[in-house]
Amino acid sequence: MKYRLVDLLACPICKDFPLMLKVFSQEDRYSPSNVRRCELYCAYHQGMVQDLPETRCIECYRFEVTNGLLVCNKCNRWYPIIDDIPIMLPDDLRNRNRDLEFLRRWKDRIPSAILESGKPYGLS
Ligand SMILES: [Zn+2]
Ligand SMILES: [Zn+2]
Repeated sequence: MKYRLVDLLACPICKDFPLMLKVFSQEDRYSPSNVRRCELYCAYHQGMVQDLPETRCIECYRFEVTNGLLVCNKCNRWYPIIDDIPIMLPDDLRNRNRDLEFLRRWKDRIPSAILESGKPYGLS
């Protein structure tokens, strides 16, 4: 997913916005057409757009987050980004085995609050 997508996503459970993005890996897939600005929240520059200096969000369209994590600061839910795709499912449709494998794989880069008490589950 592009950084730009964070500007369009809310937590599917509690609707909080914006979600926090942690990037574990990214790829440069620059396509110079189609570059605009994030509208409300910019994940690359990590701020509300109204508080940021005037900028075109080139990076937000340029970089594809290939592996990463989206975290809801309100309900402490987390959503994996695996092979470019953010997987944002309700709790009862989540694939627990895949999720736990994801947490173990990236545990050195996942906030301890998620590992310990993330929703719907952490590693402990
Ligand atoms: Zn942006
Ligand atoms: Zn939430």
